[in-house]
Amino acid sequence: MASLELKDLYEGFRNSDTIKLLANQIAKEASNLSKDLKIMEVCGGHTHAIMKYGLNQLLPKNIKFIHGPGCPVCVMPKNRIDHAITLANMKDTIIVTLGDMIKVLGSHGTLQDARAKGADVRFVYSPMDALKIANENTDKKVIYIAIGFETTTPMTSALLHSTINQNIKNLFFHINHVLVPPAMRALLDDETNNIDAFIGPSHVSVISGSKIYDEFANIYKKPVVVSGFEPVDVMQSVLMLVKQINEGRSEVEIQYSRCVNHEGNINAQKLNDKYLEIRDKFEFRGLGDIKGSGLKLKDEFAFLDAEVIYKDILPHNICEDHKLCLCGEILKGKALPNECKLFAKACTPVTPVGSCMVSSEGACAAYYKYGIS
Ligand code: SF4
Repeated sequence: MASLELKDLYEGFRNSDTIKLLANQIAKEASNLSKDLKIMEVCGGHTHAIMKYGLNQLLPKNIKFIHGPGCPVCVMPKNRIDHAITLANMKDTIIVTLGDMIKVLGSHGTLQDARAKGADVRFVYSPMDALKIANENTDKKVIYIAIGFETTTPMTSALLHSTINQNIKNLFFHINHVLVPPAMRALLDDETNNIDAFIGPSHVSVISGSKIYDEFANIYKKPVVVSGFEPVDVMQSVLMLVKQINEGRSEVEIQYSRCVNHEGNINAQKLNDKYLEIRDKFEFRGLGDIKGSGLKLKDEFAFLDAEVIYKDILPHNICEDHKLCLCGEILKGKALPNECKLFAKACTPVTPVGSCMVSSEGACAAYYKYGIS
């Protein structure tokens, strides 16, 4: 018998017959709903899966997806981009960061613009590449601009660990890691929110476990399903949520049981706890300051912290987004990208006005890419 290839496995999770079967089961369950159901997919990866496979079109009229704040580039405020550009413009400095970060507009341009003007800005696929760059450029300061939610934080912690253990003296960190639960809490604490249930990102829970969502089910009484990113995963998660609502339950359920459990990756959590701690507050673009929503280096590692070392030159400006940009409302699940007057006109992936169009995970980029007008 031929062995099962990875692609066969993925084709199973994209099987059109299975997706149609799930759509039928959802429609049947949805006929018992007492009111329309708005499901927020927290993560931009889910938004893209939904748009790519047209899953929104397979749902009955009384169930709608609304898009959440789980795209790390989309929520990065201009001030943090301004920090990165200021650091990039320092003499003998190399900035290292992950992909889309170099395209996000700060107050006066992007890291990409700074690079075009002569700054040494490099993007890497793995944070550990920063170590190699630092070793190859010992006469320069290398600053790693760390971004991402819980999923990518352990990679930064591993880089910190290696930097210290290998006694690397020219690698520094500008930490912009953010956390999903405080953002969800902020959305629910807004009395005008329209969220009935959540699809939680599985990759976050691979690290942090499903336990991070317990409060939303137990205190806020909102059902949560931790879901994989394939279309069958998402449709099965919707079915699980509709069943919870119909049965009057609000629980955290794990659809992506192939990799997620309640506790998560304890070793990764310990590594994060060794180097990083929660900030009092962090500004989410479009949402404002959110208590406890960001991470920073612990004080004992201040000698690696670019925010501490260069605090005198880093700007502290408050920067407004374009007044017609609806990113803030989109990230709260209160607007859709195609309701923005600039969508696909002044704002496209080539000429992005707001961060939701920059990132490959952004909701506006997803609507544009998959032709939703
Ligand atoms: Fe902002 Fe552009 Fe999206 Fe409009 S289309 S909300 S301007 S990112």
